This record gives sequence, C-alpha cells and structure tokens, in this order.
Amino acid sequence: MATRNNSHRHCSFCGRPEQEAGILLEGLSGLICQDCVDAAVNIFKEHDQQTSKKSRTTQNIPTPEEIKAHLDQYIIGQDNAKRVLSVAVYNHYKRLKYYETHNDKNDVEIEKSNIVIVGETGTGKTLMARTIAKILDVPFCIADATTLTEAGYVGDDVENVLVRLLQAADYDVAAAERGIVFIDEIDKIARKGDNPSITRDVSGEGVQQAMLKLLEGAVVNVPPQGGRKHPEQKMIQVNTRNILFISGGAFDGIERDIASRLKSNAIGFSGTKTREDLDRHNMLQYILPMDLKKFGLIPELIGRFPLLTYLNPLDKPALRRILTEPKNALTKQYQELFKMDDVELEFDKGALDAIVDKAVEYNLGARGLRGIMESIMTDIMFDLPKSAKGSKIKISKKMALDKIEKSGINKSLKQ
Ligand code: ADP
Repeated sequence: MATRNNSHRHCSFCGRPEQEAGILLEGLSGLICQDCVDAAVNIFKEHDQQTSKKSRTTQNIPTPEEIKAHLDQYIIGQDNAKRVLSVAVYNHYKRLKYYETHNDKNDVEIEKSNIVIVGETGTGKTLMARTIAKILDVPFCIADATTLTEAGYVGDDVENVLVRLLQAADYDVAAAERGIVFIDEIDKIARKGDNPSITRDVSGEGVQQAMLKLLEGAVVNVPPQGGRKHPEQKMIQVNTRNILFISGGAFDGIERDIASRLKSNAIGFSGTKTREDLDRHNMLQYILPMDLKKFGLIPELIGRFPLLTYLNPLDKPALRRILTEPKNALTKQYQELFKMDDVELEFDKGALDAIVDKAVEYNLGARGLRGIMESIMTDIMFDLPKSAKGSKIKISKKMALDKIEKSGINKSLKQ
C-alpha cells in the first residue's frame, strides 16, 4: 500500500510527486495516481463504445418477430402499430447493411421507412419509441416538435433534433448517422387551416418546410451544444441519409375528417366494407395520408413518411391489463418496493377495477393510472417501515376508494 508524502515517490504515468498527485497505487514496477486512473478508465470506456457501436449495428439483426416480442413485454395491445414498427426497424438495419456493401451509383436505392404513428394521448406512442430504443444498437433520441420554429424565430432550429441524437451517440457522428429519431407531437406543427398561409406560419408550415431537409437525407450543420446557430460557432456536419425518423401525434379531431372522407367515398377504405361495418369508436384505423394533409401536414412532409400506422384507444380491459401485465407494470413496481421492506403487497381485483374506473372517469387514460395509484399508496408507503417483517398488505376496493377520496386527487384531476 502507498505511504503518503514520500518525496521520492511519483506517479509513473504523469510524473507528479506524491505530495501533488495524492495517494499513489503501487503496481509491480510502478505507481499510479487517481487522475491517471480516471483518465485510463475513460479511454477504455471510449474504446469499448466505439468498437461495440461499429460492430453491433449490422450484425445479429433482430427479426421483426423478435422486435415485436420485445414490445409485447412492455406494451399492451396495439398489434398493428407494433408490427409496422418492427418491420420498419428491421428494414432500417437491413438498409444500413446494404449500404455498407453497395456503394455503386447503379445500385437499387432502398428508401427509408420513416413512420408516422397516430394515436390519442396516453395510448403508448412514446412508450413504443422508448421500448424500441432499449433493444436497439443504434443511437436513439426523442425530440418535441412543439419546441421547434422556423430558423430566425424564437424557439429551436430544426437542427436541434440532431443535437440530441449526437448526444445520444456521445458525439460519435458516424454512429449518429445510423440512428433513430422519434419526433413527438408532429401534429402540433400542422399548418393552421387547409390552405397555404398568407401570413407567415413560423411554428407550423415553416417548421415543416425546414424539417424536409432533415428527412430527405442531406448534410446538415448541427451546433454541437444546441440552441441558435451563430456565425462563429463550429458546426458538426451530420448526414441524415441513413437516420430513421419515427413521428407521433394525437391529431385531435382527425377522426371527423376520416369519417367525412369515408362518408363521401364509400370505397375509400376497403371495397368490401359497408358503412355499417365501420368501427365508429376507432376511426383512426382507417387513416390515410390524405387525412394528414387535410389536417395540415404539407404533402412534401407526408411523402417523406412512407409508413402510417395508428394506435387504438385504450378501453377498460386494456387499462386493467396495463396495471398488471407489462414487465414493468405499476403493481409489479410497488410489489418490488414493498419486498425491499420484507412486506408482501397484494391488490384485490376490486381495487384494480376501481383504479381503472377512476382513470376513465377522470378521462386520463393510461397516463392517469400512476397518479391514482400513488394517491392510494402514499400513506401506506409512509408507514411501511413500521410494518412487521414478513407481513402482508392487501389493498381492497374500499381501501382504494377511501384513499383516492382522502387524497383529493379527484378534485385536482377531474376534467
Ligand atoms: P403517448 O405518447 O401516446 O401520449 P405514452 O406512451 O406517454 O403516451 O403513455 C403514457 C403512459 O401510459 C406510459 O408511460 C405507460 O405507462 C402507459 N401506457 C400507455 N399505453 C400503454 C400500452 N399500450 N401498454 C402499456 N402501458 C401503456
């Protein structure tokens, strides 16, 4: 072991004496200080990241079935969107592989499978994107379209979307250029009204126009730290040709447009379906690109998202399943927390039904489950350390309803 303040001892790597470098670790034929250990750890880490990122990208491509099976562990229902997304991600990997070996101008141009996911808020769009990110071996980021404005106006330039991707890739540009970007709330940059605007629409059509550049596969100058570009800033050049873009939005009110299109054109969805066959509770399933145009996305932008899929609204049985079934279901999370205090936690069927009923009553969907659950559990968790080790706590329907009432969550959440 090292002895302190010995003037003859110095770090064999940086040469500093022990008085300056602090404690020195002794090896067989040398000494090392803490700063040099830290530097060495970082170098190893960086090397590992570089090699793994490069080698993982196109080896062992997960099959669509494997990707979907992974999504199934965390997301209830939404089969159609899961399948579309699984295939899109699979093709993204294959496309990357293809371009690793095909550089000839005469090669077939494989188009990107950028996707738009349409679904009410709280039905799992972001969850879907986050879950995909977990199995991906490519950098992934989520960007919020509402923060973007046309260049020169207050807000973020669209290039900032790529800043996040660069950050996710630890500024490894080559890795970022193979990444996936989820753009949330794409519907919020719809242009106001169906006609091209007379006045400038800097947070709507203007952003859509600016976004085209990112989507079409251009070399984009990205300010490394984000924010506004300014002339003296050093830029990082990112080629977006191989970046996959997934976007999501609630498109509030689009059902009306879909319904009116179907009404005026009975063959607009499927030649064999009659109007009576329509599932009026879930009009999103009949969505077509033309509905996005009517909503206010410009045709050029729609054209750069060749895939369009939808999420189903979550009914009571789905919400009930969300509480208990996913790998990280809320009930499982609380049970794990209680286990750490050596207490077994159980929820009565009635209690779970009550939670779901409240989420529906407050019109909160899946997003409300957490808050309602917390309103029930806070008191119980406050007293948890006092519970006898090895005991069991059972949440009954009455207990759940009493706690919800007492917490006042009904007053703050009721819409
Ligand atoms: P969106 O992006 O569509 O507004 P989110 O993905 O943020 O909705 O969903 C909010 C929360 O609701 C998620 O974090 C998750 O806990 C839950 N949730 C929503 N949909 C599902 C689903 N289909 N399966 C499991 N959990 C879901």
